Amino acid sequence: MKLEVKELLEEVGTEKRFHFAENWDRLETAQGQVEFTEPVVFDGKATNIDSNVLVQGNITSAVELHCSRCLKAFTYPINVDYTEQYCRANKDGHDECRLFHGNEIDFTQPVIEELILALPMKWLCREKCEGLCPQCGQDLNVAKCDCQVEDINPRMEVLKKFFEKE
Ligand SMILES: [Zn+2]
Ligand SMILES: [Zn+2]
Repeated sequence: MKLEVKELLEEVGTEKRFHFAENWDRLETAQGQVEFTEPVVFDGKATNIDSNVLVQGNITSAVELHCSRCLKAFTYPINVDYTEQYCRANKDGHDECRLFHGNEIDFTQPVIEELILALPMKWLCREKCEGLCPQCGQDLNVAKCDCQVEDINPRMEVLKKFFEKE
């Protein structure tokens, strides 16, 4: 995802539209690897502002996540807006800028970061996923099971043990 900006940088105010669509395999996240189910598309425009490059666009894709309760795979669509200012690496005073070198901006790493940030905190197939029975493994979204899930109350447990001894 490399954008040529040589001509853009010649004149302040110049705009350049871009469209990237790439098939990526996987995304490394803190919660493990996830697979893409759709191409990563980055659409937008770059504008020369005071010889820096303002990039505004939109990133879309979709990944396959696994529900943390029932373990089922589900597709999670991603659609995020992107705005960032880029400055040439040899310039001074670039506090609020991302740097680029030479005449092209490589969006690969910034896009990866945006995709990771776009993932939900909790991976759930649906908000009210019932999960699996901790005893028999039945998917409780599909059917209930006959397991008696005991209410574990530590005080009651002590009493129960006390009476069992008698
Ligand atoms: Zn689930
Ligand atoms: Zn069960």
